[in-house]
Amino acid sequence: MDISENAILNKIIESNKNYASKFSGLFDSGTPKLRLAILTCMDCRINPYSICDLTEGDAHIVRNAGARVTEDAIRSLVISHKFMQTTTWCIIHHTQCGMHALSEDLISDLLKGDLESAEYADGEWKNPIRKLSKNTKPGSAYGEHVHWFTFEEQEETLLADISVLRDHPLVPSHIDIFGFIFDIDTGNLRLVE
Ligand SMILES: [Zn+2]
Repeated sequence: MDISENAILNKIIESNKNYASKFSGLFDSGTPKLRLAILTCMDCRINPYSICDLTEGDAHIVRNAGARVTEDAIRSLVISHKFMQTTTWCIIHHTQCGMHALSEDLISDLLKGDLESAEYADGEWKNPIRKLSKNTKPGSAYGEHVHWFTFEEQEETLLADISVLRDHPLVPSHIDIFGFIFDIDTGNLRLVE
């Protein structure tokens, strides 16, 4: 494929030209001004800057599917404190999270079927019936070896993830760790205790 045909790539390049033309530089230091790190879901409806009235330079933002305390999230948070002095960590889950509607088995089964995008219809995820060309990579059972961090009970999961952080050998005891659930419908953040 000719890369100039990718409309998203062109949008990114054009939008950045506009951004750079007005750019007045950021800060000398990458240390978050609020000494804050936020772990939240990658869901495109969530803008952690907007919901907490933050701007560039205020906080570290770590994102993954489901806002889960994975090894990689822990890695980022430990670096955030150790080298960038953050002392308050917030985990922000949200209502209608996709990782809540999925299960470990369902994800690996769908990936075993094929690697193309699944569809959500009539209350469940399915691989649509489709003709895959000879050049298409086939489905794979490798998904069985991945911990997808799906969850059932959201509040329990959030509190358990906070405990994982509090008890982690690389997390100092003076770090304040808070958990919230962001309501997609109302915009409210609810503290979960
Ligand atoms: Zn989510």
